[in-house]
Amino acid sequence: MSGQAIVVGGGIGGLAAALALHRIGWRAVVLERAPELREIGAGMSQAPNAMRALAELGVGEQARAVGVPTHASGNLRTPDGRYLQRARLDDPTAMVAFHRADLHRVLADAVPSGWIRTDREVTEVRQDGTRASVRYGETEMSADVVIAADGINSAIRRHVWPQTPPRFLGRTAWLGIAEVADLPGSITLGPGGYFLIHPVARGRAYWAYVTVADAPGVRCDREKDDLTRRLHGWHDPIPALIEATPADAVIHIDIRDLDPLPGYVRGRVALLGDAAHAMSPDRGQGAGQSLEDAVVLAASLAGESSIDAALRRYDTERRPRTQAIARGARADGRRTTSRAAYRAMVTMIGLTPAPLWRAGIAADGNATWRWRPPALSPRAG
Ligand SMILES: Cc1cc2nc3c(=O)[nH]c(=O)nc-3n(C[C@H](O)[C@H](O)[C@H](O)COP(=O)(O)OP(=O)(O)OC[C@H]3O[C@@H](n4cnc5c(N)ncnc54)[C@H](O)[C@@H]3O)c2cc1C
Repeated sequence: MSGQAIVVGGGIGGLAAALALHRIGWRAVVLERAPELREIGAGMSQAPNAMRALAELGVGEQARAVGVPTHASGNLRTPDGRYLQRARLDDPTAMVAFHRADLHRVLADAVPSGWIRTDREVTEVRQDGTRASVRYGETEMSADVVIAADGINSAIRRHVWPQTPPRFLGRTAWLGIAEVADLPGSITLGPGGYFLIHPVARGRAYWAYVTVADAPGVRCDREKDDLTRRLHGWHDPIPALIEATPADAVIHIDIRDLDPLPGYVRGRVALLGDAAHAMSPDRGQGAGQSLEDAVVLAASLAGESSIDAALRRYDTERRPRTQAIARGARADGRRTTSRAAYRAMVTMIGLTPAPLWRAGIAADGNATWRWRPPALSPRAG
């Protein structure tokens, strides 16, 4: 079965969807509202499940070439610098860290030329049973399927499920990229917040500090100074990383997610990525799940005898998994930023035998990471 799709949104999820469709012989256009295609933000990591999805999309090698292995899950510390768990640098690690823009570019470069159209903000979606159409500006465009990959504030989701606004989770985060000497990656657990470091290129590191917040949108004029004060006394290289980040490049965001949707498909409209299941970042799975979505959606379209059956299969396969991961991420975030649970958490991690800890972060060490993609038949490269 072949067909045509409109993908709304040119983030990691939308580009992965276009690429997956290309691999099964469908045609697609990606409508992106930004004037230029680019990924905003700092860094991210991808776990083995996501790396397998990238390989199935045909860009596994290209992604590995711009990513850096990170030992963040193996190096757990306390603010005074003590190691609760420690990875050896020659330990194999299953996690790969990226500058967001690098991973985004790998996907964009693999999408057939002419498919991506920027400066197109979709404001409306309609459908009549066998076709779906979108409107941007004065233009209307229709296709067999519309894939909504337009992020956590998805305009398409508001049309499909009007009562599903994102929810503030009582946590906030500062992020940045700093030019520093090579670092191995680590997570420092403090009372009420944690600091994450991933290497993202030679001499460059991504950092993030996640902590609790009473209300969303609380900002100050000097975010970098505020953060420096909050992390005063934390071990090296944390102060140096913040110091090395230009003040105007410190990003401050609130952590939000979506309550579980009753479905990811309505008629010929399918939600994908954050539009369907935006999640707390604490498991590093949001973008990874959008890559999985893309592969499963395309495999369903290639494998089923009708588009409607394929979309049903996509919803049935993806909803339970992504919603369980989102639930877990929400709980992890609450636990790792809880002052009350801090002592017990640190004691428990410190007492876990190192081989047991390492087994949990091996490539097949947990149920989320064990996922394997369905095969897509490669078409023209
Ligand atoms: C602090 C933080 C850390 C994270 N760390 C990780 C991590 O380590 N690993 C991981 O896998 N995930 C991580 N995530 C999650 C990850 O960032 C998201 O899950 C992922 O970027 C979602 O991709 P997406 O393509 O679905 O949505 P988005 O990246 O939001 O892309 C949506 C795109 O749609 C466009 N758009 C929006 N509306 C319209 C419209 N109406 N018309 C046309 N275009 C539109 C936007 O401009 C944008 O380009 C993290 C998230 C946060 C907040």
